[in-house]
Amino acid sequence: MKFLVSREVQPENSVVRVGDVAFGEGGFVVMAGPCSVESEDQLMACASVIADCGGQLLRGGAFKPRTSPYEFQGLGEAGLKLLALARERFGLGIVTEVMTEGDVDLVAAYADMMQVGARNMQNFALLKALGRCGKPVLLKRGPSATLKEWMMAAEYVLSNGNPDVVLCERGIRSFDSHTRNVCDIAAVPAMKEMTHLPVILDPSHATGRRSLVAPLSRAAAAIGADGLLVECHPDPDRALSDGTQSLTLDQFRDLMMSLPCRMLKA
Ligand code: PEP
Ligand code: MN
Repeated sequence: MKFLVSREVQPENSVVRVGDVAFGEGGFVVMAGPCSVESEDQLMACASVIADCGGQLLRGGAFKPRTSPYEFQGLGEAGLKLLALARERFGLGIVTEVMTEGDVDLVAAYADMMQVGARNMQNFALLKALGRCGKPVLLKRGPSATLKEWMMAAEYVLSNGNPDVVLCERGIRSFDSHTRNVCDIAAVPAMKEMTHLPVILDPSHATGRRSLVAPLSRAAAAIGADGLLVECHPDPDRALSDGTQSLTLDQFRDLMMSLPCRMLKA
């Protein structure tokens, strides 16, 4: 059987557009923002710096898949409204996670791109609904998913009518806790050999360590990734989620300056 996601079926790269931002056309798309949308001030501070230094998309979670049910679960629709306000103010398209099939219509009413988190990579009911949602999808790799399983997860979205899928490597489970996950950087070119879909790297979740985000971001650029997902926060030590891996806004600016020039917005 030939799969829609495979290079056999489509040898040339897919270009996935989110407004005027294109993944897979040879550029390097930086999406960034806080792990969780926490407040108007927090989100606008991030969006202002991201827009100012050439980031193309604002990414923040309103529905958060937290390991513990007692941790901050996100602002829900109020968070989506803040994202829409940031889009209006700064002209950045917004990317945000949808966790359940039942939330697809609500999230699609606000988002420019729908994120499927790692834990939901094989939520097949959600993937089928996203096939019909009319918005591009950012599909993160499951923490223990093989590349073939990840490709089949994307196949669910394509085969249900939506060709616009961007894949995101975010690290996998292994034995050494020196990083939160193991950044499987080889997965990026390996996936690009097998599939025509764009592939980006998320060095924030892949490492869990702020100091490792910039070097791995540059590595992603060097190996031909189609972009990055990076977490940043005006005050990471007080973040309600993922503070240890979030760059300060100054660090985010420095990272953007350190990426090869051709990768920054003209
Ligand atoms: C996130 O993007 O904030 C997130 C929860 O990531 P992941 O699904 O990769 O764990
Ligand atoms: Mn996060």
